[in-house]
Amino acid sequence: MCYFTTSEAMLTFGKIHYYNVYLSFFLPVCTQEAMADIVFLVDGSASIGLKNFQQIRDFLFSLVSNFDVAPNKVRIGMVQYSDTPRTEFTLNRYEDKQEILDYIKRLPYKTGGTNTGMGLEFLLKNHFVEEAGSRAKQQVPQIAVVITDGDSQDEVEPFAQELRQKGIKIYAIGIKDADEALLKKIATQPYDQHVYSVSDFAALQGISQNIIHELCTTVEKEGEIILPLQGKSSCLGQMLGTGITCLRIRNQNDIVLLVDSSDTIGDANFAEIQRFLRAFVDTLDIRPDKVRVGLVQYSDKPYQEFLLGEYADKADLLKKFDNIRYHKGSANTGIALDFIRENYFNQARKNVPHIAIVITDGVSGDAVEEPAQKLRMQGVITFVVKTGGANIVQLHAIANSPQEEFLFSADSHQKLQELVENLRRKACIAFFTLRQDMLCYDEKMLMLRLLSLNII
Ligand SMILES: [Mg+2]
Repeated sequence: MCYFTTSEAMLTFGKIHYYNVYLSFFLPVCTQEAMADIVFLVDGSASIGLKNFQQIRDFLFSLVSNFDVAPNKVRIGMVQYSDTPRTEFTLNRYEDKQEILDYIKRLPYKTGGTNTGMGLEFLLKNHFVEEAGSRAKQQVPQIAVVITDGDSQDEVEPFAQELRQKGIKIYAIGIKDADEALLKKIATQPYDQHVYSVSDFAALQGISQNIIHELCTTVEKEGEIILPLQGKSSCLGQMLGTGITCLRIRNQNDIVLLVDSSDTIGDANFAEIQRFLRAFVDTLDIRPDKVRVGLVQYSDKPYQEFLLGEYADKADLLKKFDNIRYHKGSANTGIALDFIRENYFNQARKNVPHIAIVITDGVSGDAVEEPAQKLRMQGVITFVVKTGGANIVQLHAIANSPQEEFLFSADSHQKLQELVENLRRKACIAFFTLRQDMLCYDEKMLMLRLLSLNII
């Protein structure tokens, strides 16, 4: 889903005001987290000329302004080339967009000959690699934007082809009177979406819109994780010989938060837990068909705060965390674990991962082993966040194994805050592992069905 925004470049860089008045009416920005690795390959040869090189700087500034740059969102890298290529910065060099914009403003002009092929090869070997910050392995879209006057002294085609074969999408932007035939040798097809000329300012809009559209499209598919099915000979694609080596699944979770509200927590810690819950939930994609969250507090007995999916709107949900009451009393964690199994996970969606996150100091009045075991038997993945002094033995019994993956210690406010991202990431990994097993299981079932129907 996209909405329209004004560009911040308009405010910060008067010089390109003109582009952005134009852009501001057209540029869609993804509302969800959009991820991409974008590397610019900039022609800095003598044929460009100082005046046009300034136009390239302005163009880059404008384009980068429109991306949501962050280590877990859009990463930007840059190479300038003439006779030889030069790394300006790699994908993992800057975490902050302003630093990139500052760099672009004073991007030094290299001058010299034009070996575009060598530049493309350099991108492939030195930038679209993990060490430089590429997230290709995590299926993040890989995008190269080549800006040149289209007059190269060396061969471009074999290197461009190699990039494209590696799944890197290439946009070719012609500056000055660019040789369009050469741009087409570089770019991904269809050319009307990937080849542009910067001689007309409309091109700025075209290229930004296309890249952002691509990111939004990726986002719409968001949550679909590509599972590599390596080493699983049972997997359908391989067995059918279709060459399918991965499957897409949707990013859906049912998460139940179980919060210790007993005396031993204390007022100060309880307030920290509230803040932690809020921050954690804020990182999730709360929607009825995506991530659903339920909340239970407990002391002597469980308190049903809200059921899975009761709050479909994130803003309402976050407000709810501000208003939860500290109940006090002794803690019966075992009863509470039974409660979420019987009253929450029984209403969870089938075929989405079921995750419990238990936040407690680990001092329980009743036995936790059996209730925890029952949850696991039912396929619930249980994380434990330990606050304050804890009975670590009980916590081990509750959390899934291995403990370093599923048991977190948070003895201070600082640590709780750090935990937010960590836990979100771990929950994703757990989800991934679980789904992989389920998928292969499902495929076996599907195989049997196909066999019984004489289809294969
Ligand atoms: Mg040149």
